[in-house]
Amino acid sequence: MARHALPTLVAIDGPAGSGKSSVSRAAARRLGFAYLDTGAAYRALAWLALDRNTDSSQADAVTALLKDFDYSIGTDPDEYFVTVGETDVTDAIRSPEVSAAVSAVARVPEVRGALTELFRSLAANVDRPGVVVEGRDITTIVAPEAEVRILLTASEEARMTRRSAEITTQSAETVAEQLRSRDRADSQVVDFMSAADGVITVDSTHLDFEQTIEAVIDVIHTRTKRTFE
Ligand code: C5P
Repeated sequence: MARHALPTLVAIDGPAGSGKSSVSRAAARRLGFAYLDTGAAYRALAWLALDRNTDSSQADAVTALLKDFDYSIGTDPDEYFVTVGETDVTDAIRSPEVSAAVSAVARVPEVRGALTELFRSLAANVDRPGVVVEGRDITTIVAPEAEVRILLTASEEARMTRRSAEITTQSAETVAEQLRSRDRADSQVVDFMSAADGVITVDSTHLDFEQTIEAVIDVIHTRTKRTFE
């Protein structure tokens, strides 16, 4: 099959609970695009830190882990997986322990630099006509030149409600508090709550899942002036 020279890049940022991951993946599937979940790489590194008993608040120790970080991710929206070395960590990286450790790992500049390079290379090499890359700093740092740049937001109340419906092993209050504290820590490092110049905001507060996917696909078609579906 012929390789596509330059995949159309769709950058989507937003806070947790905005529906970012599931919407990005569903939109990629419908468009025949690849899907790159960048948060998974930060989570996988946090998983490695926990596995090695590394104190994630020690920037040097976290940076040292990068040389052993043999990470791989599925970019086919129908075959999502995350591995570190031989270990499949697809489920493990969603644990409360990893969620609690990830912001400290993501704060380290060397980590951000290395992962940003990795994301650019993964996105440039997909074997699809386009790729949806989602995270916190995709529209601003990883791919500010992306053809389509979207900030997917939702009110704090809507985000907390959605997240606590997903996580049934913890109380709604615990989930909300963890999400708030992760947002606070993350927003000290990158601004993902307001749209940078040229970035289109899609507010999903009053949209259901299907309507949010349609809103995102609409923006993609309007911006690229092409139809992929
Ligand atoms: O998107 P997700 O909630 O899985 O991201 C996990 C964590 O990874 C975030 O809380 C943030 O600390 C970090 N992250 C980041 N930059 C990105 C994506 C995620 O710092 N582009």
